[in-house]
Formats: sequence, C-alpha cells, structure tokens
Amino acid sequence: MIDPFGRKVSYLRVSVTDRCDFRCVYCMGEDMTFLPKAELLSLEELERVCAAFIRLGVRKIRLTGGEPLVRRDVMDLIRSLGRRLGEGLEELTLTTNGSQLAQHASGLAAAGVKRINVSLDTLDPDKFAALTRRGSLAQVLTGIDAAAAAGLHIKINMVALRGRNDDEFDAMLAWCGARGFDLCLIETMPMGEVEYRAVTHLPLAEVRAGLARRWTLLPSTYATGGPARYVQVAETGQRLGFITPLSHNFCEACNRVRMTCTGRLYMCLGQEDAADLRAPLRAGGDDAALEAAILAAIARKPKGHDFVITRTATARHMSVTGG
Ligand code: SAM
Ligand code: SF4
Repeated sequence: MIDPFGRKVSYLRVSVTDRCDFRCVYCMGEDMTFLPKAELLSLEELERVCAAFIRLGVRKIRLTGGEPLVRRDVMDLIRSLGRRLGEGLEELTLTTNGSQLAQHASGLAAAGVKRINVSLDTLDPDKFAALTRRGSLAQVLTGIDAAAAAGLHIKINMVALRGRNDDEFDAMLAWCGARGFDLCLIETMPMGEVEYRAVTHLPLAEVRAGLARRWTLLPSTYATGGPARYVQVAETGQRLGFITPLSHNFCEACNRVRMTCTGRLYMCLGQEDAADLRAPLRAGGDDAALEAAILAAIARKPKGHDFVITRTATARHMSVTGG
C-alpha cells in the first residue's frame, strides 16, 4: 500500500474498545458516554479486517483503545492475530494503561507479543489517582512487574503536564533505566474536549533542555516512522523518546493508519477524513469490497496534520482513535 505521497503504509493501529477503567484528565472527561456494543466491531470482524490489512501489506499491528485489555475476550483476538506472526505479520503489540497486565502478561508473551507500551505519567500514588481519576498505581506497577517477568520489552509512555508531573522526569528516567525500560515523553495533543489542556501543555523542547543538563543524551538513529524522536541516555543505556505531535517534523515518514473500534479508518490522527470499513465488512460476501475500501482510503491519505494547541483540532477523544 503506497499513498499519494509515496509513503508505504505498513503499520495499523487498532482501537479495540472506546472504554477504559481510567479517566485520565488529558484524555477523557469525568462522565463519558461510551458506544453501544452493537456499534463495535466484533472480535471476529476485527480479526477479518486485520487479516485484510496484512494481505495488503501491513507488517505491524498495535492494539490500543480505550484500554485494550478491558475488552472482554480480547485475548482471543490477540491469540488469533499472534498466529499470523511470521505469516505476513511481523510484529503484534499493544499500548495499555497496565491495570490488567498482572492477569494477561504471560498470555501476551505466549501469543507472540514481544514488546508493549505502558502509560505511566507519575510514580506518586496520589498524583496517579488524581491524574487517572480512578487508577491504582500499585496495581499498574504489579502489572509492569508481571510483564517484565514474562519477558516483554517495555516502553513507558509519559505525558508531560505542566504543574502535574514536570518535577518527575529525572525520577522516571532513573526508574526506567534501572529496569531496562525505554521512556517516551509525550506532548499533550488537542484531542477531544478535556479539562486543563491549554494550561498544562508543556513543550518537550523545554523538558529536553532540562534533562540534557543532568543526563548525557546521545544522538540515536533509532526511528519507527512515527512521531517519536529518540536519544540514547548514556547513564542508563536506555532510549528516551520525545513525541511532539504539534510539530510537523514527522509526517514525511508516516507509515501508519488507525482504525477505531467501530471500523472507521483514519488516515491521519490530526485530520477528520475517515473511511467506513464496517459497511463492507457487514455487507456479506467475500473480502474484495473490504480490500477495495481500504485501498481507496489509502489513496487519500493526507500529507500531514494541522494541530493547533489553542483550539481543539479534532473533536474526537484520543480514546476513540487510540493514540
Ligand atoms: N489506555 C491505553 C493507555 O493509556 O496506554 C491506550 C490508549 S491511550 C489513548 C494511548 C496513549 O495516548 C497513552 O499513552 C495516553 O497517555 C496518550 N494520550 C491520551 N490522550 C492524550 C492527549 N490528549 N495528548 C497526548 N497523549 C494522549
Ligand atoms: Fe484510558 Fe488510556 Fe485514555 Fe487514560 S489515556 S483514560 S488509560 S484510554
């Protein structure tokens, strides 16, 4: 799948649910209305659409949400996708808040998942409860330990929030370094109507400059085609990434598309244009119409996004498109 700008689309991010057991302040409102179950693609439909993408050239699939591990029987989907590893699919991974990892870590590893991203914005239990509005830090840390014990490679995602966790970057870097985890800092993105966004926005250039005074940040050639820019931390040997979605510097290498749990395919996280894959999935018949709909969507993947922090660029919450 080659888009109009010559970029090869080989990476699919799939939101398997819009639901979550947390309500992170930058991601969701306090009271969320979630989609009725009938709107969601079934696990079988999710597998069918993933299989179509793999036939068309997708090599990496990331499951996300909402919280992917709160979807009932999601491990069935993970196991069935895992069986496609080596049969076209090269990597299966997920982004999780970690709350259910204690229960699922070994199952993930057994299904062929090698690496996961775990979101963790603070190591302070009270701040964690406040930021997630209902999460337990202890539960997440137990989950992370289970994932590490199962042999999963872990990258921690930390959203940088002014006045909330901006005194913790050094501690998080050290904590990750001691455990062999990579760390990725994320700048807030204008997604959905959520509280405090503009005031808590913290440019990562500022964070990086501060870290560079205390840590040796070496240039790294590591790149994933995504928005993260990496350095190597000499003191820990681990990677440190910076995701700055508000700058335009990553669109040229964009290799990904995103599908929501209702089968809407977004060709760009920051644009509204989407293709409905649920209709061809549910129309009956073979997968020719589904594949045609995917290819038609790729043919209109836009050049880049248009985020501006002072307004809400897209009305979708991050939990809808899956981060
Ligand atoms: N629930 C899972 C989790 O938290 O990892 C997966 C879904 S979550 C939407 C994916 C990532 O998006 C998380 O790392 C989260 O911190 C990040 N995120 C959510 N809302 C964001 C926002 N407005 N700006 C930047 N990152 C955001
Ligand atoms: Fe849930 Fe992840 Fe959004 Fe937090 S960031 S509310 S854990 S989906």
